[in-house]
Amino acid sequence: MPKSSFVDFRAVKAALTMEAVLEHYGILDQFKRKGDSLSGPCPIHKGTNPTQFRVSISKNLWNCFSECKHGGNVLDFIARMENVSIHAAALKAVEWFHLDLEAVTADAGPDEQPPKEAPPSNGSTAPKPAPKKPVAAEMPNVPNKPLKFRLDKLERNHPYLSRRGLALETVVDFGAGFCAKGLMADRIAIPIHNPEGQVVAYAGRFPGEPGEDTEKYKLPPGFRKSLELFNLDRAIKEPADTPLVVVQGFFDCMMLHQRGCRKVAALMGSTLSGAQEELIRRHTDRHSRVIIMLDEDEAGIAGRDDIARRLAKFCFVTIHVFDEPNTQPEDLSAEQLTEILEGVP
Ligand SMILES: [Zn+2]
Repeated sequence: MPKSSFVDFRAVKAALTMEAVLEHYGILDQFKRKGDSLSGPCPIHKGTNPTQFRVSISKNLWNCFSECKHGGNVLDFIARMENVSIHAAALKAVEWFHLDLEAVTADAGPDEQPPKEAPPSNGSTAPKPAPKKPVAAEMPNVPNKPLKFRLDKLERNHPYLSRRGLALETVVDFGAGFCAKGLMADRIAIPIHNPEGQVVAYAGRFPGEPGEDTEKYKLPPGFRKSLELFNLDRAIKEPADTPLVVVQGFFDCMMLHQRGCRKVAALMGSTLSGAQEELIRRHTDRHSRVIIMLDEDEAGIAGRDDIARRLAKFCFVTIHVFDEPNTQPEDLSAEQLTEILEGVP
């Protein structure tokens, strides 16, 4: 058997969280976090009951209490979602999450036998081993790799951007614009930077209300948005005594920035991942102030208490509650925003 078709399942399982996998499928936002568990509709049998599918975060296991009557680990989950063998699921995970194949193949432990259902021995579908790198220990948080290219020729003055209220200056400042071709073709491409300021991905926003079969946002395959906070690289350069405003979306973030609130970062969702919590922890201390300003809707309201509880362990946190339901931070006028920021103790 070629060595490349041989994957250490244990290493892949250790490298992947259920959260990252749900995020990969773009469905993490449908799950509610309560303590150690996430619950939501079952994506395997495509159920609608919001509590039938549960994930234990610490055990990294899932269970469907409805039709599937089944549970398992991350690889079982991918195998069921893709309707493939565990071995094929592991190979997919390696590819999606850029796991270092050498590290996950070379070190098969005694309790990990070579899979019986290995793919045909022609080996054409098996990825080639990556160059040897000592990364096994860091695998649980394999960082997003900086991109080696930039999308240039983006249309900065696309009507969708001005409809959303963004000034050309803001659009240029964030490096966004309408993309005509490539992976983000016909979408507004928005670069996402890691805390070091390197571009790690472009998000693509559909320029309008997407139809049923079109996703609002597109992210490149394998990119883990749960490892980044949009605009954090710039927010951390702002004065330490200015509060950090945490919002959900790219447009909230760009709009607040335009209205003078420069210390703002976006979760790119309504939940805070463990990696994002760690990023905030690294850039704050017990004197730092954080304002959580999520959308005043079901997801935002459900997400913010958990986020506040977790951040409050190491900094001073306030939650901004909007008077009107369904208000988003991007709806705030410059005056309202100033009032909120000045009202924070
Ligand atoms: Zn199910």
